[in-house]
Amino acid sequence: MRYSPLPQPQTEWLQDFFCDGLWGGGTYTIDRTPCRIKLDQNEASWDWPEAIKKSILQRCQEEPWNKYPDPYVNEVLDAVSQYSGFAVDNLIIGPGSHHLLCLALSIFRQRRRGQLVISRPSFPLYESHAKNFGLEKRIWPLTQDFEFETESLHDLPAHSYVVFASPNNPVGNVLAKEHLEALLQAHPHSMFFADEAYFEYSPEPYTELVQRYPNLILLRTLSKAFASAGIRLGYMIGSQPVIDMIRKVTLPYLVNRLAAVTVQQLLTDTTCLQRMRQQVEQTMVERDKTIESLIPIGREKGFCVYPSHGNFFLQQWEDAERARTIYTYLRDECSILVRDVSRGPLLDGCLRVTVGCPEENQAFVTAMRALAS
Ligand code: PMP
Repeated sequence: MRYSPLPQPQTEWLQDFFCDGLWGGGTYTIDRTPCRIKLDQNEASWDWPEAIKKSILQRCQEEPWNKYPDPYVNEVLDAVSQYSGFAVDNLIIGPGSHHLLCLALSIFRQRRRGQLVISRPSFPLYESHAKNFGLEKRIWPLTQDFEFETESLHDLPAHSYVVFASPNNPVGNVLAKEHLEALLQAHPHSMFFADEAYFEYSPEPYTELVQRYPNLILLRTLSKAFASAGIRLGYMIGSQPVIDMIRKVTLPYLVNRLAAVTVQQLLTDTTCLQRMRQQVEQTMVERDKTIESLIPIGREKGFCVYPSHGNFFLQQWEDAERARTIYTYLRDECSILVRDVSRGPLLDGCLRVTVGCPEENQAFVTAMRALAS
């Protein structure tokens, strides 16, 4: 039995239930064209070996699927605590860091004073969630060279909430630890939310800062360095009163038994940890090598490439139209999918390219070389 589509209510009546931002906004979309080489989502270029997957699956089979898991999956929290070094009272886990980011935005929207500040260009979901929640925001722009600039925050009112990523997607730049520390000291009554999704690649992680500054919250994930985007697990690190507040709005049972078993093994098994670290090293070497080969090609073909501290890099063409042409050429003629971010604010002409395995990176370089000058 298939039902016909449900009757549509009148939009004028319906609209009043939603804020303008949500009503006028769009949904998250990505190009799902099947391609041989997928460099569009900053996923790890490698997957876990079959033997490891098999042993995890065996343990999944032994789980009672008919029973709810622990509401807040304490055993996963313990594993995250062991890996990250932070006490469980300073941690929250959830099905992906994106979910936690949304939770943190929703809770801090109840702030009665201060501003919501979002860096730009950055992970676009910060701005789209703010819009969907009807939040007014102040943009914290990077410089023309895509660097963080902290002077412009000198007038930040107390109780502000500042959201940024470091390493920053899609640029790959970082906010230096000493600059963040200066901000944390200058604005002790504002909250800084640092998205460290690419933490394992970062030359300047904020691990030590969060131990000293209660106005800093960190967000991390297993989706990138741990090659587990499909498993969905992220975690947030913060002082206990902040974490306690966020925990109150965290739904129970968000992390399922199968993800819990998987994550526990990946985070605690020394072979898995070693493999992850090796792969991170290799990805960084590949990234720098690929960027190095692209620089002279770019001079000839009319693009530049920015240095990066993530598992991706940004390529900039003269304008959005040219970037779109290159994007389509890569997808349709080379079967390489990258991310077209060229229409994003302050990203005119930019494509974001994930670092793949050596053959994939080589294919990308070859595709660039083959372009007419
Ligand atoms: N933050 C940043 C900066 C990201 O780039 C991404 C994913 N591309 C996320 C968060 C979301 O990660 P997750 O898979 O943990 O939801």
